[in-house]
This record gives sequence, structure tokens and C-alpha cells, in this order.
Amino acid sequence: MTLYLWNDQLVDKNQIKIDIEDRGYQFGDGVYEVVKVYNGALFTAKEHLTRLGQSMQKIGMETPFDLSNLHRLLEELVEKNGLQDGMIYLQVTRGTHARQHWFPPADTPVVVTGYTKEMPRPASLMEKGVKAHITDDIRWLRCDIKSLNLLGNVLAKQEATKHDAFEAVLHRDGTVTEGSSSNLYMVKNDVIYTHPATNLILNGITRQVLLAVCRKAGLTVVEKPFTLDELRLADECFLTSTTSEVMPIVQIDNDLVSSGEVGPITRKCQSLFTSLIEQSCLV
Ligand code: PMP
Repeated sequence: MTLYLWNDQLVDKNQIKIDIEDRGYQFGDGVYEVVKVYNGALFTAKEHLTRLGQSMQKIGMETPFDLSNLHRLLEELVEKNGLQDGMIYLQVTRGTHARQHWFPPADTPVVVTGYTKEMPRPASLMEKGVKAHITDDIRWLRCDIKSLNLLGNVLAKQEATKHDAFEAVLHRDGTVTEGSSSNLYMVKNDVIYTHPATNLILNGITRQVLLAVCRKAGLTVVEKPFTLDELRLADECFLTSTTSEVMPIVQIDNDLVSSGEVGPITRKCQSLFTSLIEQSCLV
């Protein structure tokens, strides 16, 4: 039997009751995380749970919340579901209350749900690279919060999908921010550029651990915004996310990125990231 997380219990799916007035359902009033599992072990779970706590705090969800207990429950969920390679989806909403825009009383319990899903590493896409499509970043100004409100991201991904692309390259007035569900990077003259961790992007956990390991390996990383014009002249381009890892971008709309081949810095980033996975999950 596949189990699901519902508040502080692991239950069968048909035991879960989500109220029609759950604020996650009515307002997208909540936050979420996606954690990858390799070889039955959670990867960077502490970092994801820390960011979950930060997202909650940023939206004023300040009810005491035991993140270490949640961590234990997620480990138990993975073990009981026998998940080897896949992901955990986890969300926390501001709870259930008669519909009103302002917050419900502070003692309203939050609603936590989570599930596991099998998902292999995207090996063949990582090998050959993907296409991206440029579109306006129409989202709000708190993209640093991992909010359930994903309409701007959903519309951007749909635009990309319509153009046969794996991901959207989002920009504000010609300055590249990130992807619809990933962080973006370009490489020029052996330097890796990516948008700084401001309110305009989600500071990805993959981004954080990759940048740290790149710097340790002696690669030059500059956290500075770049423009669409600079991107068009890039030597290499790639994206990162929990589920896509380090994914080369070899085509942007009708233009190949440089020669259209996956470049050496991208390959280096992939191997550094794979080593991290192997070290922490003993793949
Ligand atoms: N930016 C956005 C908008 C995202 O949705 C995601 C993935 N959820 C990321 C960046 C990458 O974050 P992470 O590496 O933590 O998955």
C-alpha cells in the first residue's frame, strides 16, 4: 500500500480529507518543497526543510512547526513506500477557515500533505541537452518564496511547451531571471553567470549546492544578472532544479547555443553534482 503524509500521520490516500475551504485550495495560500530521493536516501533534505521554514516565515505562517519531526516522517514515508529513486512532494497550507482574504486566527492548524513518486534521473536529456523558449517574466515580486501560487510559472511553462521547449527563459525587460521551474546559467569565457539570489528568483537548493561545489573546484561563478543579448552570445547555457539536476540548454528558440553541443563547463558541473549525489546517497 502506498502511504501519504497528512499532517503528522502516514495514511492511505482515501483517509485524507482536504476541506473545500482549505486556504491552499482557495487562495494558493501555502508553500511547498520537492525533495529528491536517490537509492532510498533523501538528498539535501535539511536544506529543503530549512527553505520550507523560511518560506513559511516569509508569508507570516508562524505557528510553531517541528521541522525535524517532519524530516523523520518523510524518511519513514520513503522507507514504507519502498521508494528507491524518485521524489517527495510536500506542501503546507495556512489551514482551513471560512473564506476571507485576511489571515485566519493564529491558532488555526496548518495543513501538511506529502507523497512520493518514482522518477528516474533524466539521463538522456542530461546527455544531449534541451531546447528553451524565451518569454516575459510576468510573476509577482516575491519569487524568493516557494509559494503554491504558480500561475505565472504555469503560463510560462505552457508557452515553452507550445514551442516544443523543455523550459522557459524568463526575462524582465531583457534581463534574464530564471526558468519557470529552474534556475538559469550562462557560460562566457569560462565564467559561469547566474542571477543573484534576490526577490526576483527562487534560490534553488540545486543552485546553492552546485555553486558551492563549483567554487570549491576552482570554477569562477559570478552572481550577476545577464541580458538576453548576452545570453544569445553565450558559449554554454544550462539550468538546474531538483528534478532536472544540471540540464544543458543547447537551443534557445530557433538559435543554437554556440555550436549546439553540450559544453565542457556544463559537463564539469554535471559531474560535480553527480559526485555530490553519490557522496550523500551512496548511489
Ligand atoms: N526556480 C523556480 C521558479 C522553481 O520552481 C524551481 C524548482 N522548484 C527552481 C528555481 C529550482 O529550485 P530547486 O533547485 O530547489 O529545485
